[in-house]
Amino acid sequence: MDIHEYQAKEVLSNFGVTVPDGALAYSPEQAAYRAREMGGERWVVKAQVHAGGRGKAGGVKVCDSDAAIQEATEGMFGKKLVTHQTGPEGKGIYRVYVEAAVPIDREIYLGFVLDRTTQRVMIVASAEGGMEIEDISANRPDSIVRATVEPAVGLREFQCRQIAFKLGVEATLVQQMVRTLQGCYRAFTELDATMVEVNPLVITSDNRVIALDAKMTFDDNALFRHPQISELRDKSQEDPRESRAADRGLSYVGLEGNIGCIVNGAGLAMATMDTIKLAGGEPANFLDIGGGATPERVAKAFRLVLSDKNVQAILVNIFAGINRCDWVAEGVIQALKEVQVDVPVVVRLAGNNVEAGQKILAQSGLPIIRATTLQEAAERTVGAWQSDASQTTLKAVS
Ligand code: GDP
Ligand code: MN
Repeated sequence: MDIHEYQAKEVLSNFGVTVPDGALAYSPEQAAYRAREMGGERWVVKAQVHAGGRGKAGGVKVCDSDAAIQEATEGMFGKKLVTHQTGPEGKGIYRVYVEAAVPIDREIYLGFVLDRTTQRVMIVASAEGGMEIEDISANRPDSIVRATVEPAVGLREFQCRQIAFKLGVEATLVQQMVRTLQGCYRAFTELDATMVEVNPLVITSDNRVIALDAKMTFDDNALFRHPQISELRDKSQEDPRESRAADRGLSYVGLEGNIGCIVNGAGLAMATMDTIKLAGGEPANFLDIGGGATPERVAKAFRLVLSDKNVQAILVNIFAGINRCDWVAEGVIQALKEVQVDVPVVVRLAGNNVEAGQKILAQSGLPIIRATTLQEAAERTVGAWQSDASQTTLKAVS
């Protein structure tokens, strides 16, 4: 789960990281009011969307008057901000953050990620802050400083000092760097984050080390341990298909293709997507309905997959290990009676009681296309989609 910049800043500041003064606003008038309340002469208004690259896309504006703040935010509220991280559809702006502007002397990149190779938290830093990490590693790979943290002892001060020196931070500021790095690390581990990014971390002309931007992602599977973090979820920033699935306890990722997939088990779902591609189709989604495959879950899955208007055929691929294929077949039939499905449906079952399951499907009287192997299932789905699509074209022509 991602959170907004202003939320990440609040979280990090509770761990001792210095952030600018700021206040949240839900309208241009409120934004101007917040700035007056804060005082000062220059402010930065920042669109709160779950994506980086806002600066270049017009989502970050430096203002020096009430009128400028009103004008800048009027151009933001209710609009979609399209950055290189949002995809072409963009993300809606419903909140802006107003901050006291700080005089920047240097910008540093700072990121905390989980490194799969070492199975450790890795700190990635660069003296080339402000640029996105992808650009830094493409253009200035030599500027990247890396350090891994030994989990048993945590992030040590000497490591932080080493990082600070490698970044060329002045000796008088090293203590502030240590505090920042340790604060981010503690927030990362104590809150089960999977990513903390401060870009830029700035050194101001009056010698302060401040997190000017902040991004945090949390491990969804650990959110139950952190109710105060789960509360920060903002559904307006999520793919509506994915948040609907999460609410129903299904694991769903929306994709661009038109073959809907209903599968149990993440590995099988991946294999199903690969096989669809091999057969010449494009999957519309990844969907793992979990172990149960009860009629209710299968019905929910059909509704979810069909809520994507691009879906033109559905492949149901269920392996019954603990479950039984005859029960799954009953579930599929019940779901198809409950949910109106106007696209071809291919069902492939494997595992316990597979013959009984196939028989139930065959005798159901429903137009279910059956398949034995995954390859056959994928080929039949792609075939059904192609002939269905050509029929639609014919209809459109005649
Ligand atoms: P992002 O583009 O979504 O990553 O948004 P950032 O919060 O990183 O802001 C983009 C850029 O705006 C930063 O790299 C800074 O150069 C600039 N910026 C943001 N806040 C301030 C500020 O308080 N003062 C000044 N001078 N520049 C700022
Ligand atoms: Mn940034």
